Amino acid sequence: MIEIENVHKSFGALEVLKGINLTVDKGEVVSVIGGSGSGKSTLLTCINGLEPINSGRILVDGIEVHAKTTDLNKLRRKIGIVFQQFNAFPHLTVLENVTLAPRKVKGLSRQEAEEIAVKHLTHVGLAEKLNVYPGRLSGGQQQRMAIARALAMSPDYMLFDEVTSALDPQLVGEVLDTLKMLADEGMTMICVTHEMSFARDVSNRVAFFHKGVMAEIGPPEQIFGNAQHEETRKFLSSVR
Ligand code: ATP
Ligand code: MG
Repeated sequence: MIEIENVHKSFGALEVLKGINLTVDKGEVVSVIGGSGSGKSTLLTCINGLEPINSGRILVDGIEVHAKTTDLNKLRRKIGIVFQQFNAFPHLTVLENVTLAPRKVKGLSRQEAEEIAVKHLTHVGLAEKLNVYPGRLSGGQQQRMAIARALAMSPDYMLFDEVTSALDPQLVGEVLDTLKMLADEGMTMICVTHEMSFARDVSNRVAFFHKGVMAEIGPPEQIFGNAQHEETRKFLSSVR
């Protein structure tokens, strides 16, 4: 379970998160939507401790992310994160990219790490690409590799930050299908997304962020069919 309690976060004088409260249960898929600069990415980087917070607290399986005594490296193994931009090591093959962290961080043997990597790469449809360099993959394939790389650490939670935004439109579907497959398998996920049909079809709940506030959260039927807040309706009409 991820528990976000009254989290405030500023960059200098700019308050980016203004008292966020959100609990994500095991197996739940929460999509986060909202305008540019509303604090969506910042929330994800706070959840895995990449960014400090000013007040409030975030608990992952009861462990307080920003407590001084928390072993962040250990905590981060529970939380996979995939970003918009590809960040593969270009001089390593697909298989080497995916086995790197399990070997270096988890201390798995090459053979153990490769077994796990092949399993996840096969799962995301890249079984044919094990020995290829990332530069030879399409954008959608690179993102699926990034997802396999995160999964190879056996996380309990996955955070996705607009993983399809940098892709050509014809490649978006294959990556969304991969996310949907993970959701169907019961992975606990927070997905920041601009893909409203994905948010509607795959999420248990959709959170709408507006200027650092979670202005509205509810099941997709509420957000997309009967939004309670004027700002939610305005945002949705601007992206549709
Ligand atoms: P987008 O949809 O464009 O990705 P977002 O909702 O993800 O937007 P954030 O990236 O969380 O927005 O940014 C929220 C605000 O915080 C923005 O005004 C941004 O300029 C600012 N910000 C983000 N990261 C930093 C940083 N490292 N230093 C200073 N300001 C930052
Ligand atoms: Mg963002």
